[in-house]
Order: sequence, then structure tokens, then C-alpha cells
Amino acid sequence: MAADWTPPPIVSHEMACEAETPSEVLFVCMDEACGRRVVVGKSRPRLTVIDRGDFSARHAGSVGGVAFDEVAVA
Ligand SMILES: [Zn+2]
Repeated sequence: MAADWTPPPIVSHEMACEAETPSEVLFVCMDEACGRRVVVGKSRPRLTVIDRGDFSARHAGSVGGVAFDEVAVA
């Protein structure tokens, strides 16, 4: 492998469940400097961004059967 190869500068953030309703889960980014918040639907795949936070980071999270994995598109 080439010695001058460098990985892409994509930061990965973990998101935690902060609130939950029968139909939706609120995820908050664990990185305090980021503050991204999203609502994920349980019964159907739906993701609503409330606070954009660090848009360049990749965010993933899961709780009790609900999981999502956002891959940043620069
Ligand atoms: Zn984040």
C-alpha cells in the first residue's frame, strides 16, 4: 500500500436515544460540540433532522430495534 495514502477525513459520531414515543425516537449526538438531533420513525423508515450539527460527520445510533446509519455526503 502506498505510504502517502491518507484516509478521508470523515468523523464518526455516536447518537443516543433521548426521548421516545410509540412511533418515533429522538436521537441526540453524543459530541457536545456537534449537537445534531434527529427524529427517526419506528414503523417506517423516516428521518427528520431537527438540528443539523456537524454536517460533515457520519452519525449512527440504535435503540431497541430502531437503528440508522447516516453516511455524510460532502
Ligand atoms: Zn455529531
